[in-house]
Amino acid sequence: MAWQEELKRNVTTVEELSTYLDMEEEEKRCLEEVVSRHPMSITRYYLSLMDREDPHDPIRRMAVPSLEELDLSGSYDTSGELENVKVWGLQHKYSQTALVLATNQCAVYCRFCFRKRLVGLPTREVTRRLGDVVGYVKAHREITNVLVSGGDPLILPTGLLEGFLKELSGVDHLRYIRIGSRIPATFPQRILDDPSLLEVLDRFVRGGKRLYVVTHFNHPRELTPEAGEAVERLMRAGVVVNNQAVLLKGVNDHPSTLAALMGGLVEKGVVPYYLFQCRPVKRVKTAFQVDLEEGYWVVEEAKRRLDGLAKRFRYVMSHRTGKVEIVGIHGNYIYFKYHQAVNPSHGGLFFRRRLRPGAAWLDDLEGFGGRSFSRRSSPAPSIPCVG
Ligand code: SF4
Repeated sequence: MAWQEELKRNVTTVEELSTYLDMEEEEKRCLEEVVSRHPMSITRYYLSLMDREDPHDPIRRMAVPSLEELDLSGSYDTSGELENVKVWGLQHKYSQTALVLATNQCAVYCRFCFRKRLVGLPTREVTRRLGDVVGYVKAHREITNVLVSGGDPLILPTGLLEGFLKELSGVDHLRYIRIGSRIPATFPQRILDDPSLLEVLDRFVRGGKRLYVVTHFNHPRELTPEAGEAVERLMRAGVVVNNQAVLLKGVNDHPSTLAALMGGLVEKGVVPYYLFQCRPVKRVKTAFQVDLEEGYWVVEEAKRRLDGLAKRFRYVMSHRTGKVEIVGIHGNYIYFKYHQAVNPSHGGLFFRRRLRPGAAWLDDLEGFGGRSFSRRSSPAPSIPCVG
């Protein structure tokens, strides 16, 4: 079956989901409310990875809506993405990198997605006119790389991706392209069943520019033989494969799980690159965010179990002011360092904040040592499903 046909078999309604998973009528009604705001779509493959007997199964948590999504604390744009839009479909936050939102579609709509405001929903934030996006990149010679993101760019038809890559390959000052995709984890059949996709990627690499696919595996059970084969074929096409994961409550917030994920990635030839602190996104924060202090110790304990290759990843927070690495805890303080900064004078800035129980984002900490950030997450009202 062609991958497009397979995608049409995705589970998209609570009614259908309830034929796979046990649900009370009241729960179904609430989940319908959630799904009416943020769509659900689960591939049959990803569904097959779930333990249907376990309501707390980590794979299930990532794809199946929950009542926690009715909690509206947080914000829909925690990293100031809209502030960095230069033309619709392109953000320019750090001088060397342009971020392109190529689509708002994905194979699976992850419940923890930080772009929840746009995935599967009508939006003006994705690329409409490729010419505008390429024109902006051509006009800005400081841009050395483009990160193609979304949604999931590998959901696009192969011909469209090819056109996009062709346009970018003609921009002299670009040194490499990155494609961010969770498809190897949620729908590897997209890669396995379409040899023409691999030919397109292979041609691009042979054209002289380096191509990276940044995968998004969050749990070792996502590293199936199919996922491994998809990664292998990408690598055979000359693509360099790195992984970004997100630290998620109830999914990978245990040292042994995290260590198994990072070790498993290295075994498959994938470089563990970033581990992101989950952002305080509306309908995500309460369900998935891990406190910074706890997150730090989980990461440290996981690293103690790993060899040098597997512990190359950095634990970072993609903050409005830059990419902030969480580097240590000593006494009552937590220490940070700007890995990337919007304000160039903050590049490399090392600073500390006094630890505060429950703090899960830089804005939750009092200003100490470095600059002070006063924006705070909104309080967390619990919105019950009533009526
Ligand atoms: S595939 Fe990526 S963009 Fe799409 S819902 Fe999941 S995390 Fe968000």
